Amino acid sequence: MTSLEQLVFDLSNAFGPSGYEKEVREVFQKAVAERTEISYDNLGGIMAFHKGSSEIPKVLLAAHLDEVGLMVRGILPSGYLKVVPLGGWWAPALVAQRVIIRSKKGDHYGVIGSKPPHYMSDEERNRSLKPGDLYIDIGARSGEEISALGISIGDPIVPAVEAGFLSPANFVVGKAFDDRSGCAAVIQVLKEIDADHPNLVIGAGTVQEENGMKGAHSVVALAEPDVCLVLEGAPADDFPDGGPLIQGKLGGGPQLRYLDPSMIANRALIELAVQTATELGIPYQTAVREGGGTDGGVIQTRGLGGVPTMVMGVPVRYAHSHQGIISLDDLKATIHLAKELINRLDQATVADLKRNPWM
Ligand SMILES: [Zn+2]
Repeated sequence: MTSLEQLVFDLSNAFGPSGYEKEVREVFQKAVAERTEISYDNLGGIMAFHKGSSEIPKVLLAAHLDEVGLMVRGILPSGYLKVVPLGGWWAPALVAQRVIIRSKKGDHYGVIGSKPPHYMSDEERNRSLKPGDLYIDIGARSGEEISALGISIGDPIVPAVEAGFLSPANFVVGKAFDDRSGCAAVIQVLKEIDADHPNLVIGAGTVQEENGMKGAHSVVALAEPDVCLVLEGAPADDFPDGGPLIQGKLGGGPQLRYLDPSMIANRALIELAVQTATELGIPYQTAVREGGGTDGGVIQTRGLGGVPTMVMGVPVRYAHSHQGIISLDDLKATIHLAKELINRLDQATVADLKRNPWM
């Protein structure tokens, strides 16, 4: 396994739903400690500073550490756990899946249960499932048995999934690629970036993106960036009935996003990315997204006077489910393009992006 593959596996396997990102931050911190100066915000986020030949402009590379998960809402006397979602789940994707519940006394496996079809009325079969309908079965016979294991209200839960390779296309399957693929890209850029890039790079791992982009607020206030690349695990749309407008195809390269409901990207910055990718033969794809949102929406407007921002997405099939799939080639292309862009984001270029954000 290459070191990049190992990094992707470690990040994917790490436990880190919104508000509980400790393990992911440790992987991030360990990976960049040698080459960067590290500091933290007060919510759990991390910032790794890599100074090139100049201290300005400040280039923020942002990825979120957290993944979608669940939280224990209550313990039923019958020995089941009721849960609430942390982040946006489609409830049917949770049914019959294994999960890990992290308690003060350690981790416990459970299965998300649901009523078998044999016991469903016609009305129940046709009704749409909600996360609140679901419960977790850990094999306990009573609420007391659950409490004795150390499990209590407020404990965080993630999918019980180990990353693995999918052949033959250089794909990896696992959980949390939204946004651990972005975390892997930020980390790898910090590890590989040239010593004399004409700016100060701040690689950030934000917290609680899936809970309303909370960590983007705290990071942008401390980092005060001049320009920002948000590195995301962007939901792929190349599934069989994805329609004729596929804009997030595995193997198509990073997805450069003009628009999503959280922001309109700095068009001049996208043009610079397209020009850079074209010159160097790096694959990329462009997208206009009707749904979703990223930390970029916060960073763009909360930075002093506004921050030229764009999103580069590694396409993730089946995002926000137990089993996502990414292409390692897309990840490598994202890292390559981000590094080359950083080399071009000098003081004059970033001043231009601020003065003339259009095409
Ligand atoms: Zn995300």
